[in-house]
Amino acid sequence: MENKFFEDIRSDFPILNERVYNKPLVYFDNGATTQKPRCVVEKIDYAYYHLNANIHRGVHFLSQQATLAHEDARKSVAEFLGSNKSEEIIFTRGTTEAINLVATSFGEAFCKSGDEIVVSVMEHHSNIVPWQMLCERKGMKLRVIPMTEAGDLDMDVYKSLLNERTRIVSVMHVSNVLGTINDVAEIIRIAHEKDIPVLIDGAQAVPHIPVAVVKLDADFYVFSGHKIYGPTGIGALYGKEKWLNAMPPYQGGGEMIASVSFEKTTYNELPFKFEAGTPDYIGSTALAEALRYVSEIGLDKIAKYEHDLTTYATERLNEIDGLKLFGTSSDKSAVISFLVGKIHPYDIGMLLDKLGIAVRTGHHCAQPLIDSLGIPGTVRASFSFYNTKAEIDVFVEALKRVVMMLS
Ligand code: PLP
Repeated sequence: MENKFFEDIRSDFPILNERVYNKPLVYFDNGATTQKPRCVVEKIDYAYYHLNANIHRGVHFLSQQATLAHEDARKSVAEFLGSNKSEEIIFTRGTTEAINLVATSFGEAFCKSGDEIVVSVMEHHSNIVPWQMLCERKGMKLRVIPMTEAGDLDMDVYKSLLNERTRIVSVMHVSNVLGTINDVAEIIRIAHEKDIPVLIDGAQAVPHIPVAVVKLDADFYVFSGHKIYGPTGIGALYGKEKWLNAMPPYQGGGEMIASVSFEKTTYNELPFKFEAGTPDYIGSTALAEALRYVSEIGLDKIAKYEHDLTTYATERLNEIDGLKLFGTSSDKSAVISFLVGKIHPYDIGMLLDKLGIAVRTGHHCAQPLIDSLGIPGTVRASFSFYNTKAEIDVFVEALKRVVMMLS
């Protein structure tokens, strides 16, 4: 029943019918980006054909319609994240820009020499480098939460890292390499005991599990539209009003001002203070459509289906001699990273590609994590609700062939 529902859903994604090297495409690179349902692509067309005019400044009809669509999209994002204040949603180019915004603005307002930032060993580069840059600018220190063999964060060490110098904790909700679903509610609770704010990188969480930022009590929560069936180039930052109001603007320009003179400029209110220049109002409109699409299916249903897929794939992969999984947490999302014997992950990825199967190989923008594991990288298969057990069978049989060729 459930399987039939998700099999039928494939017809919403025309690209899944593509053939590569004359083989049916098996797309297992959803952690990098997801494919787009027809309704999202059509929404982009519709917005350009019927709603295109620069927003906020126009008195004319089209501009008002485009403004309405953009601001409605902001409400959709707020609602999707479980917040009832749309002014706490800032549109960004994606997760990376959202973290850079916080690292720069929060850093400017609240950080000084000698302070510390806590991240984890499994972070994506986009949740490491902006903080490192802040540390370099201000003479601060980055402290790193280690993990266990299974790929769970070591909560005892985490607690011991927090002190009066800690200015912010910034960790991922779901690991893009290990699939671990971190206990972010507990991470936030522990930090808040010491009045330390927490940023959660939700890039790999929001497409797969229900998220409620207010319930979590996250201070900042960020994600990318393209990983949740939306267009590229748009994402969002949720930030508590009290922080966003106390932070200086990230970029200067049009839209983010209240008034400008050569003597003094005053800034606009939230959320516009953080959205300098013409925003991606077509992108936001299409992102709202993607969120509507996902919500209509239901994230509980998606999480359950993808969990079954991941369990099935794990069982089947374990049939392969010498295959080692990285990330065996009891609470895992739809990501499987592995190596087989001493075969280089790149070689496996190249040969799978020739068989029509798209996986990702390498360090997955998490070089410190890969280094800590002492490996050259992994092969990563990451699933979406449009993937099927039949595709996993094709993948496992192809992998067996590839391993035989390379051993
Ligand atoms: N954080 C995580 C956990 C990710 O997986 C990614 C992308 O793979 C990012 C951040 C960066 O996302 P973007 O490139 O869309 O800004």
